Amino acid sequence: MPFSKFGLEADILRAIQHAGYLRPTPVQAAAIPKVMQGHDLIAIAQTGTGKTAAFVLPMLHRLCLAQRQGQLRGIKALILAPTRELAVQIVANIRDYGQHLPIRTAVIHGGVEEDAQIKAIRKGVHVIVATPGRLLDLLGRQKLDFQPLDVLVLDEADRMLDMGFVHDIEAIVATLPKRRQTLMFSATFSKDVESLARRFLYQPKMVQIGKRSNPADTVSQCVYEVPTHLKNALLLELLGQPGFAKVLVFVRMKDGADRLTNFLRLAQIKVAKLHSSRSQDQRLQALQDFKDGKIQVLVATDIVARGIDIDAVSHVVNFDFPVNPEDYVHRIGRTGRAAAQGNAISFVPKQDLNLLDRLELFIGQRLPHKRLRGFDYQAPVPAPTPGEKSPRRDWRKRTREMELRNPRRRADE
Ligand code: AMP
Repeated sequence: MPFSKFGLEADILRAIQHAGYLRPTPVQAAAIPKVMQGHDLIAIAQTGTGKTAAFVLPMLHRLCLAQRQGQLRGIKALILAPTRELAVQIVANIRDYGQHLPIRTAVIHGGVEEDAQIKAIRKGVHVIVATPGRLLDLLGRQKLDFQPLDVLVLDEADRMLDMGFVHDIEAIVATLPKRRQTLMFSATFSKDVESLARRFLYQPKMVQIGKRSNPADTVSQCVYEVPTHLKNALLLELLGQPGFAKVLVFVRMKDGADRLTNFLRLAQIKVAKLHSSRSQDQRLQALQDFKDGKIQVLVATDIVARGIDIDAVSHVVNFDFPVNPEDYVHRIGRTGRAAAQGNAISFVPKQDLNLLDRLELFIGQRLPHKRLRGFDYQAPVPAPTPGEKSPRRDWRKRTREMELRNPRRRADE
């Protein structure tokens, strides 16, 4: 079905054409007609499937109709998303798809001064894209009037629940008009997601695209069994191989990201890091430099594992093996997007082999094991240089035990 069959406004079709989209993706083909008919919707779809357009296009269409009827006044749509990066990306999509429309959009998230956000709202906006924490702050001080609202979107609902936002979401939804259209997008359909849907959606239609535990078919995956003390060296060797042009490296902890970034920088690799202790400006800059190809490597924690859309990531490297199998699927979903071929490499030290077993059970496939020719896998642990503190083994061990006990620590926005 071509886009023209959905009945979208001509100005929206023009923007789609400008974006170069030839036909709808499966989630768009399934979801857009239902949303256009005014139904509430639960869509289970992995990231990278085009799900943002699946809710933004019909939302813009609805705003066009409101404008024609002289009712485009006040906040008409609210989109909640788990992370600042995703919120910013959704706003960019709305601006692209709505480039021919008089729609004003604001983004609200933590980590930056409130003033500019409040000013933007005061000027009058039709769409707000927000992370739940900051939005609730502003609501508490009555800076927002949601009475005109028609559409609520909960994007990456499972991730928002994982991050502990359920009470924030409940408090926000309690301030919205009961008569509205509610759309919920989630990569997984857990009991908690179902319960959220039962409370907030009215007779929803459901669409499900792909099985939840399947990594994208366009990603070729493999595993390197490597001792922990040689992971830095192996990564450096791999980065020198042909094709490693745009490499996203996932680590478990923020200080691990700091250490690895310093190591790579010393080795003359163009690298940036992204984790929740970085300022908002630093986070955006790192992401932008990576998107623009100014750096070869972005070292990140799981805050960029979901939703973030970066063109042509050649490789995702799980420098630290993810404790949670679902995180693996999301991490490697950053490569092989929009039908491009991608590569996912996981470093697995002996003590993580049990995590690999669990993952293989979850995704229903065995991952091939590779070895880099010429790399010395038997190299000894380097002795500490004189004056260097003894390796912080106990500390690392304790941290790892904590992670294994509680892999879903509340991440911050
Ligand atoms: P999303 O899952 O919303 O993050 O989208 C993933 C990527 O697919 C983004 O780069 C979109 O620009 C792109 N995309 C969305 N819809 C289409 C389409 N119909 N045809 C081609 N690319 C698309």
